[in-house]
Amino acid sequence: MTAPLVDSFGRVHRALRLSVTDRCNLRCRYCMPAEGLDWLSSDDVLSDDELVELVNVLAASGVAELRLTGGEPLVRPRLAELVARLRRVPGIEEISMTTNGVLLADQLRGLVEAGLDRVNVSIDSLDPDRFGAITRRRDLDRALAGLEACERYDHLRPIKVNAVALRGVSEPDVLPLAELARQKPYVVRFIEVMPLDAPREWTHGLVLSGEELREMIAERWPLVPQERDRPSAPGTTWRFADGEGEMQFVSSVTEPFCAACDRLRLTADGQLRTCLFAEWETDLRTPLRDGASPDRLRAIAGDAVGRKGRGHGMHDPAWRYSGRPMSQIGG
Ligand code: SAM
Ligand code: SF4
Repeated sequence: MTAPLVDSFGRVHRALRLSVTDRCNLRCRYCMPAEGLDWLSSDDVLSDDELVELVNVLAASGVAELRLTGGEPLVRPRLAELVARLRRVPGIEEISMTTNGVLLADQLRGLVEAGLDRVNVSIDSLDPDRFGAITRRRDLDRALAGLEACERYDHLRPIKVNAVALRGVSEPDVLPLAELARQKPYVVRFIEVMPLDAPREWTHGLVLSGEELREMIAERWPLVPQERDRPSAPGTTWRFADGEGEMQFVSSVTEPFCAACDRLRLTADGQLRTCLFAEWETDLRTPLRDGASPDRLRAIAGDAVGRKGRGHGMHDPAWRYSGRPMSQIGG
């Protein structure tokens, strides 16, 4: 292995989120405007060859875990072929995907055969009307079918369900989602809403905190905290005291986990990001297309990692984020 990607705080980077598209078939209110965004042109988006080449470069510096995301990763054509190629990159140990699940039932088998190891399905409400109001599409049944399809493959477990919580919106969904975690082999993870929405409507007041959510659930079903799986895990895990399943809380706003962050992100147009909230990106696409050597690309990535900041400033009420929204970064 060449030199690992270590930042000035000693954090070693092993995880890469690959955004394979900025496009999406849903329009979640905390992410996209109703009319969508100005999509990247196909020339702007990294090709399969380019993605595989950059993953080779980063894997040689210790990146071992890939998560496919977007936009909605399943709208990228021939995703399974890409997964199969990424799985063969030396050093890559695990490939996971975050998806809204709508197209998953049809594509899951091909993806699993290609080497997909883990899936997170994002479902914020189990009520069709409420799901429709949040995502602006009436696709709950298809998303649930995608989620259920994951149960056919033992190695995909634990299957994770991501639910973004919004104050004044999500309260009626909290207990039904906790019940889902009790009845099915799913770990339900509540995620605090972050200021990464394209419409820029986020306020601190919208954040329904992990602590509040835990209290709401624990009143009905007591919860017991668990050890973190690994220091860089973004969420805290809580088991139901009666042993019936577990929940996670990703409290990025109220309990940031920057100190152990080992993540990098590559946008669909080939920009390396060292933090979700960084307002700067490092262009890997231009040097790649200009024929830069793997060593040169690794040096550019290493330099970007060296400049990674200690953490985000969201706790400061004066903090504002003016970078690209979540769907263009790869959440
Ligand atoms: N389209 C896929 C999906 O929704 O799972 C993958 C991309 S999406 C950007 C990745 C995750 O980010 C989803 O779980 C989504 O709910 C979450 N997300 C999107 N916007 C968010 C925001 N403003 N705050 C917190 N999480 C957000
Ligand atoms: Fe699409 Fe995912 Fe954003 Fe929802 S959260 S609009 S599914 S990219």
